[in-house]
Amino acid sequence: MKQNVNALIEQMTLEEKAGMCSGLDFWHLKGVERLGIPSIMVTDGPHGLRKQDTSADHLGLFDSVPATCFPSAAGIASSWNRSLIEKVGAALGEECQAEDVSVLLGPGANIKRSPLCGRNFEYFSEDPYLSSEMAANHIKGVQSQGVGTSLKHFAVNNQENRRMSVDAIVDERTLREIYLASFEEAVKQAQPWTVMCSYNKVNGEYASENKRLLTDILKDEWGFEGFVVSDWGAVNERADGLQAGLELEMPSSHGAGEKKIIQAVQNGALSEDILNQAVERILNIIFKAVENKKENASYDKEAHHQLAREAACESMVLLKNEGALLPLAKEAKLAVIGEFAQKARYQGGGSSHIKPTKLESIYEEIQKEADAVYARGYDLMSDDVDETLLEEAKRAAQNAETAVLFVGLPDRYESEGYDREHLSLPANHIALIQAVASVQKNVVVVLSNGAPVEMPWLDQAAAVLEGYLGGQALGGAIADLLFGYASPSGKLAETFPQKLSHNPSHLNFPGESDKVEYKEGLFVGYRYYDTKQIEPLFPFGFGLSYTTFEYANLTVDKKQFTDEEMVNVSVTVKNTGSVAGQEVVQLYVKDTESTVIRPEKELKGFEKVYLQPGEETTVTFLLGKRAFAYYNVDLEDWHVETGDFTILIGKSSADIVLEESVHVTSTVPFVKRVHRNTTVGDLLGHPATEPLAKVFVERATAGGPFALSEDNQDDMLTAMLKFLPLRAILAFNPNTVTEEEMYAFIEEANASLEKEPFALSHKSM
Ligand code: BGC
Repeated sequence: MKQNVNALIEQMTLEEKAGMCSGLDFWHLKGVERLGIPSIMVTDGPHGLRKQDTSADHLGLFDSVPATCFPSAAGIASSWNRSLIEKVGAALGEECQAEDVSVLLGPGANIKRSPLCGRNFEYFSEDPYLSSEMAANHIKGVQSQGVGTSLKHFAVNNQENRRMSVDAIVDERTLREIYLASFEEAVKQAQPWTVMCSYNKVNGEYASENKRLLTDILKDEWGFEGFVVSDWGAVNERADGLQAGLELEMPSSHGAGEKKIIQAVQNGALSEDILNQAVERILNIIFKAVENKKENASYDKEAHHQLAREAACESMVLLKNEGALLPLAKEAKLAVIGEFAQKARYQGGGSSHIKPTKLESIYEEIQKEADAVYARGYDLMSDDVDETLLEEAKRAAQNAETAVLFVGLPDRYESEGYDREHLSLPANHIALIQAVASVQKNVVVVLSNGAPVEMPWLDQAAAVLEGYLGGQALGGAIADLLFGYASPSGKLAETFPQKLSHNPSHLNFPGESDKVEYKEGLFVGYRYYDTKQIEPLFPFGFGLSYTTFEYANLTVDKKQFTDEEMVNVSVTVKNTGSVAGQEVVQLYVKDTESTVIRPEKELKGFEKVYLQPGEETTVTFLLGKRAFAYYNVDLEDWHVETGDFTILIGKSSADIVLEESVHVTSTVPFVKRVHRNTTVGDLLGHPATEPLAKVFVERATAGGPFALSEDNQDDMLTAMLKFLPLRAILAFNPNTVTEEEMYAFIEEANASLEKEPFALSHKSM
């Protein structure tokens, strides 16, 4: 194949090659008929196929062919179920084959920095490990069908506000540990056929022109083999983009892009080799699509609908269940209240908006199980409180055993293209909860929303089910959960704060004009709430079940190991309740003693297990270097500090049930040099320099105010001495040691450090 592609490139004219680097139209790449290069189709994505037949747009305005609408990423990430998302991916791939689509534009792996981001429903998590695992398995699923994916939006696209012009300013360590890590594993594990660069700038440069991101990191460091496609309209200067590693511009620029490429090659600003390499990457994918094309492919609509129901069921998170109000008894007398019960909000707005093959009505699905009456409760098109609708809802609630309320965020509240400004439900939804709660104590609230909301009304609901945007089969899934055909098993993939101002990005979101500074650094989501000790409304990883689980026997196969070894962790989990259910076992790592700033703990493993009542299983995790490492900007690499770490097993980030301590030794020589400005404290604190330093400092400070000696026990002075650089001791004690003697000591200390390079990585200097 490679040879073929190179032979083709040799036969192509400059115009043809430049032409391959921008789209034919909105959804197609160019082909070259005379050389047998076909034009392939790409389309959105991520949780359903948006294949447009006639009118094309990237905002979900015009119609598309019917396709299965699966739960959006916010929901499916809450399943924490790798094989489920892979199955959904495979179903999406089948639908692409049936519709002759070669690449599905998704998944999105941007981190949920703020709950306000209008597109959070399309993203997985605030945690890079969970996000990249979900993305990787989505990609594996789609690509198993011979259809490509486009991992998007690379990178640091965490808000919709000014998304095409904003410059996201992020420090290197945060970029690596949070924002890039969410893409990194997905690229390495699953090799998406394409990666889509984002609209925004990253540290001063458009993502579409960012060589460091598109070439140095994505291709050279992570080994990405496919091509980079621009987000729709993300190209600034086409030739600069190509130079930086942006192979394909989408959609068509109607000749403008290729003209600039041709000019740049002709005037020597762009080497033809770079153009050839770009064309090679594009052709490799085009022919991969051709080779994998399944003729006359079709798919089983009903089977995909059932899969959508299964996925929706695992995507929903039970947040509260006072007095075990749920599950409801079959044949219960219910009041189903809220217009969402009839007009479900099951997907988000924008480019991912699709036309479902069918759509279940929540109310009808509930009616199949119970004696249910319906009251509208509010007008979906308005936020105004309608007293007549409230009175009607109260009457329905009064005459029922339980009121099930469907509230949430209407379409206009959250979408691609803009962000929310608050986390509140519409006023008429809140008024409805209050009105119903005034006449009925058995209130179940089912939420439809793509991202967290504040819940000042929480006390008025006995049970709360977070339904997210559940896709076309949400009705059946909600009924399955409400009536106990399935036990809830979703866990939050993001923190629900008590209020917006608690969110770490609050003071710097969405930034000033065209600049947003990520001043909270690493402290995104639970990394912040945990470390800052702010109690969230519902923590990351939280979700209730109809059964109970007990954890025991946390074991590690070794307690001491190096950063080159793998450690095996296992724990047993038992279903101690009376119904079958699934549990998500979460593994976090805490760096017990660290010289660098680190979050309280970080997610490094998870497994979902299904257990019958009384059944027990052993869950195992394999942890390598990355589980213990931070990104060291001086080394320009991941680094483990020698020292103790704690492995934590939790039911959520806030409910740690077992822990075990291990000791990891670094194998990376990380030598810092002693110099005239090295402090006394650092020298005395390091095993390699401590004996020498003690002798030198005692001599140097003798007789002076900071005298370091056995009989000087002044804590205050000793504490101050710690932060004195070597040169300052000399200044305060002019007659003890000479400058030459100081340099002799520095040399000796450095020689001693050289002998113990590994020990060094546990103390900073
Ligand atoms: C979105 C992408 C989408 C593209 C094509 C853009 O506006 O940001 O996610 O794939 O349009 O519809």
